[in-house]
Amino acid sequence: MALQEVIVEIRERNGLSQEDMAKKLFVTRQAISRWENGETSPTIETLKAISEAFDVDAATLLGLPAAPICQSCAMPIQSFDDLGTNADDTVTTEYCAHCYKDGAFTHNRTVEEMVEANLRFLEEFNAQNGTAYSEDEARSILKMHLLTLKRWHG
Ligand SMILES: [Zn+2]
Repeated sequence: MALQEVIVEIRERNGLSQEDMAKKLFVTRQAISRWENGETSPTIETLKAISEAFDVDAATLLGLPAAPICQSCAMPIQSFDDLGTNADDTVTTEYCAHCYKDGAFTHNRTVEEMVEANLRFLEEFNAQNGTAYSEDEARSILKMHLLTLKRWHG
């Protein structure tokens, strides 16, 4: 379900008119109407407000699979603060906040440099997942994995 449909669904489930929802979120009725038509998208701040007001998590609100990963660095995107932002302060669901901010990549890495950057978290990764990858093993696995992501394939 796309964001625009999720907003309609949340509003109707709570028995609210566009006017009622607008008041609750401190926006105009026109703003709600534009989101529902898909003409514009809520900003990251508004998404957080919707999430709090109606108790829906980031993935549900954005219509994402349970644990999407950043298509640049492979980090799981779990909360609003993990989401990359576009130039108009709406969110992208493809890239994380570390990789993509205000409509552009925050760094100009090659895939090899991205692998090396991720390798800094190898000990933490091994500890969290009960694995014991050596740096060399992790390097080749990571590179294969990253090359399947949108930013790096093709
Ligand atoms: Zn990322």
